[in-house]
Amino acid sequence: MSSSIEFDPIRLPPEAEELRKEVRAFLKEEIAAGTFDPHSAHLGKSFNPEFSRKVGERGWIGLTWPKEYGGQERSFLERYVVTEEFRVSGAPARAHFTADRQSGPMLLKYAPDEVKQDIVPRITRGECYFCIGMSEPDSGSDLFAAKTKAEKTADGWRINGRKVWTSNAHRSHYMIGLFRTSSATDDNRRHGLTQFLVDMSTPGITVRPLLHLTGNHEFNEVIFEDALLPENAVLGEVDSAWKQATSELAYERSGPERFLETIYILPELVNVLGKEPDVRGAEGIGRLVAQLHTLRRMSISVNGMLAAGKEPVLEGSVVKDLGTNWEQALPAKARELSAFAQSDPGNRADFDELMRFATLIAPKLTIQGGTREILRGIIARGLGLR
Ligand SMILES: Cc1cc2nc3c(=O)[nH]c(=O)nc-3n(C[C@H](O)[C@H](O)[C@H](O)COP(=O)(O)OP(=O)(O)OC[C@H]3O[C@@H](n4cnc5c(N)ncnc54)[C@H](O)[C@@H]3O)c2cc1C
Repeated sequence: MSSSIEFDPIRLPPEAEELRKEVRAFLKEEIAAGTFDPHSAHLGKSFNPEFSRKVGERGWIGLTWPKEYGGQERSFLERYVVTEEFRVSGAPARAHFTADRQSGPMLLKYAPDEVKQDIVPRITRGECYFCIGMSEPDSGSDLFAAKTKAEKTADGWRINGRKVWTSNAHRSHYMIGLFRTSSATDDNRRHGLTQFLVDMSTPGITVRPLLHLTGNHEFNEVIFEDALLPENAVLGEVDSAWKQATSELAYERSGPERFLETIYILPELVNVLGKEPDVRGAEGIGRLVAQLHTLRRMSISVNGMLAAGKEPVLEGSVVKDLGTNWEQALPAKARELSAFAQSDPGNRADFDELMRFATLIAPKLTIQGGTREILRGIIARGLGLR
């Protein structure tokens, strides 16, 4: 039977495994030096400019980008390994992560050269952070309903409107914003939106906090009142942002960060169950690890396909859907498996604290970066079912 979903059987190359050793040694050193504490990073304290600058010094931000802009011209599979090791060890990579994953590649592809020369090397040094301004109060899944307006002025653009759920807007230097530059047309409702580079220090921009269930301040509401952007803030073609998003979304959706956000629960569960778990505990751990292994192989495959110049949009959506459901279910599964375990009270205290946090963040995992229903709609369309 043929299917429009094809995962190439890709394995990590030796240079990626070599890099893994370097990354592990670096993380061990930084933990010992007190640059970060994995436990508090697992509890959401993962924005750490000092750590980001050290990662920049190693050359691990923009690893795949051209050397001309501070990159290393290494492969996506090597980048995969860095992301994976950072996630598993609770490294606080939040400050640079959005720019590394998607804003930098976006600038490299669509920004004017003087903008690239100015900003991209600062990203690779771990000094310049980005947020994403897509969602609005009435436009989340349906991004093409965005209303925040960019009007042409004599020498640039005037922005008015409101974005919501903007992660890290309060500590980012720039936003990549999606704004309405003209109306949709009768034959293309996606027409009329343009991506812009927004300097967050521009007068007329107000950032207000939105606290989530854990009480942490991660996302925000961003209000634009006659904020003036220069001419060269336009990224790509005016009115045609919809043409620019396809492979960016595959990168955003298929990385290991899409199933490793609650991973810290798994080793804690192993600790709590102890050296001789009961049959139920052992079977449960085995099942979770087997599922994780499969997700990992699928995610590596998508990254390898992207590196080979393919556009595995469907496969990326499958990885995000399966991966986010797995990481979302993990805390409840761990609670079930550990309910009757007789464990050391010290191990149990850490486990309980992490479990509380993971349980509170679990609902968001299938919303951020595209909801479960939207992904399944994409997969169904790709399979010719709708
Ligand atoms: C932790 C977190 C961080 C975020 N960070 C950012 C950020 O940095 N920048 C940013 O721009 N956004 C961000 N978002 C917003 C996120 O992208 C949106 O919440 C998401 O796209 C859903 O949009 P919405 O909240 O408006 O819900 P809606 O689109 O209103 O959806 C509500 C419900 O209806 C379902 N639904 C909607 N349309 C359909 C359909 N066609 N078919 C079937 N079901 C449908 C959805 O699946 C969902 O269950 C973040 C969200 C979270 C949770």
